[in-house]
Amino acid sequence: MAEVKSTCCYCGVGCGVIIETAESNGKIEVTGVRGDPDHPANFGRLCSKGSTLHLTANPSLQMQARLGSPAIRKARGEDPVDISWPEAIQTVAQKFADIIQEHGSESVGIYVSGQLLTEDYYIFNKLMKGLIGSNNIDTNSRLCMSSAVAGYKQTLGMDAPPCCYEDIDSASTIFITGSNTAFAHPILYRRLEDARKNNPDLKVIVVDPRKTDTAKEADLYLQIQPGTDVALYHGMLYIMLWEKWINESYINSYTADFDALRDLVRDFTPKAVSQICGINEKDLFQAAQWFATSPATLSMYCQGLNQSASGTAKNAALVNLHLATGQIGKAGAGPFSLTGQPNAMGGREVGGLANLLSAHRDLANPEHRAEVANLWGVDSVPEKPGLSAIPMFEALRTEKLKAIWIVCTNPAQSMPDLNAVHEGLSKAEFVVVQEAYAHTATTLYADVLLPATTWAEKVGTVTNSERRISKVNPAIDPYASAKHDWQIALEIGLALEALLPGNRKEGTSTLFPYAGPEDIWNEHRESTAGRDLDITGLSYKILEERGPQQWPMPVGSDSGKKRLYEDGIFPTKDKKAHFIAAPYKATAESVDARYPFALNTGRLRDQWHGMSRTGTIGTLYGHSPEPCVELSPKDAGRMNLENGDLVHVTSRRGSEIFPIKVSDDIASSQAFIAMHWGSEFISGAAGKTPGRGVNGLTCNMIDPVSGQPELKHSAVKILPA
Ligand code: SF4
Repeated sequence: MAEVKSTCCYCGVGCGVIIETAESNGKIEVTGVRGDPDHPANFGRLCSKGSTLHLTANPSLQMQARLGSPAIRKARGEDPVDISWPEAIQTVAQKFADIIQEHGSESVGIYVSGQLLTEDYYIFNKLMKGLIGSNNIDTNSRLCMSSAVAGYKQTLGMDAPPCCYEDIDSASTIFITGSNTAFAHPILYRRLEDARKNNPDLKVIVVDPRKTDTAKEADLYLQIQPGTDVALYHGMLYIMLWEKWINESYINSYTADFDALRDLVRDFTPKAVSQICGINEKDLFQAAQWFATSPATLSMYCQGLNQSASGTAKNAALVNLHLATGQIGKAGAGPFSLTGQPNAMGGREVGGLANLLSAHRDLANPEHRAEVANLWGVDSVPEKPGLSAIPMFEALRTEKLKAIWIVCTNPAQSMPDLNAVHEGLSKAEFVVVQEAYAHTATTLYADVLLPATTWAEKVGTVTNSERRISKVNPAIDPYASAKHDWQIALEIGLALEALLPGNRKEGTSTLFPYAGPEDIWNEHRESTAGRDLDITGLSYKILEERGPQQWPMPVGSDSGKKRLYEDGIFPTKDKKAHFIAAPYKATAESVDARYPFALNTGRLRDQWHGMSRTGTIGTLYGHSPEPCVELSPKDAGRMNLENGDLVHVTSRRGSEIFPIKVSDDIASSQAFIAMHWGSEFISGAAGKTPGRGVNGLTCNMIDPVSGQPELKHSAVKILPA
């Protein structure tokens, strides 16, 4: 038996795991997994998903679930035929080169994933922006964290969560808003439970339209109406101002632009806010008091803020509260965005989005573009922002985008308004799907399938919610002929270099001079010199010897930085944090007489995303065995419906059939469906649409700053089937 240290590949908590292996018939197989007691994210704990990871590596299960060979589909709808790797690489490179030469570099796109490792992300970003010369690379993190990025940048100057997990231990008030932490980040929630045991005076406030398991344990629960978060935070600030609970000294010393916000919140009286949010004034007052007057207030927030057409405003309005009360830059305090995916942070660090550049540089900044071009050995990096996730699939539908290369994600299930996404994929001239799993909704559209390695096979790094970089290590060989994601990008990149003129500087023989992931990491590391996330003092060797480290960790430092902005200096031009006077806007799609229910989506405890991996494990269905739409007893009673009765759930975009579950956790005129269920579990309305799953219904309207879609709110009608 052998053991290898690595990380869990699910959520952004980034727990350390120890993978146990043994030899069987001459092959090394995964036999078990347990939490790494030395990893500072989890100290040995794992949740239900992490602790069953070894089962997903079971050889017979892999034979059913995994993609084992490159394959080509001669025509859509036909079965794919296996081909060799050289044939697959050449086919993809040639087709991309042909399309670029005929239609230009903006006619192709790459759509990647927050589950890729940092090294994978880096090379894909360089391939698109450096070699192809377009910024058309985006990621499923757009659906997850982009409003948090925009909120941090607008207020604090950089996309940098200022807090750390230790802050949970030392907070005196924890304000959880738009997050069912107990399900979505279970190991952090265990830490919060420990903190409460150790400090009976710790106050927990939860804000959520749905009475989640997290909300049920709160000292104060605010069951707000969907999408009213900005009004709530402005209302809290109104009370803080009135009661003189704001920290004038902090505001005067370290911030700017407070006056405009003070003027804006004058309209958010307790009475007005209680009506907008559907809460009572006493609870609003209590929340404001605990937040402002506690010695240390930590906010923890996630998709309830981000997945909104006002996501950036929600994030900024929450950060405003921390700045106004000085609840930032000290132990136990700060606005802490919890990352959804395991490496959404790493993707942001290398600039793997349509509007970012390496090491938190901005596309719009000519100096930043020149720095990256110089680093990569190319004449220039294009200035025009690329297509972000929603416009990218819309451009397929309108045939402006001709080819897409989809890596480690399943947009045919996870994107909102799926009928439009499927139409786009059907119309695409060329679709490449690089995946570990064979049977996703997206693989059905692939003209070329490229089998990729996955957990327990990969090597590289990931960054978790607290800016902590961990090493990911392989315990077993790649499945069948699967290759690493960075390796596939490298081989296609080299083949494309031979076919495209490119804009390499004289003397740059190749943009991809890498023998392995450590070479890619070292180039990324160099790109961070002098930036807020400087990791020039970190190396694979240090990660192996001293364990995971938080950024920044510039050359010469012994360890990373636990907490940011303790000195009150922010990475903005005037070194101050900036208040944002964001107006409150209702949800993008309003409920009305025809579509009277507000549909919310969210995670189950034991499933992950589109269930490609967790859906292969029988025991993970024990907690929630089948899809359902949750309705309040009042609404179910009004329609004469009981548990298990089937209903049509219909939005302006599609219609799906679900059994109902009557739940006290749901407010009247609201409904909840878990985000995971795809077409294999759901029936569409007969004769109208095929079953798409929950995202056949969801809304694709986006936040104007972050481009993140409003997955958390759609107007629907619900009628007995
Ligand atoms: Fe994995 Fe997240 Fe569970 Fe930790 S909390 S074991 S990272 S899914």
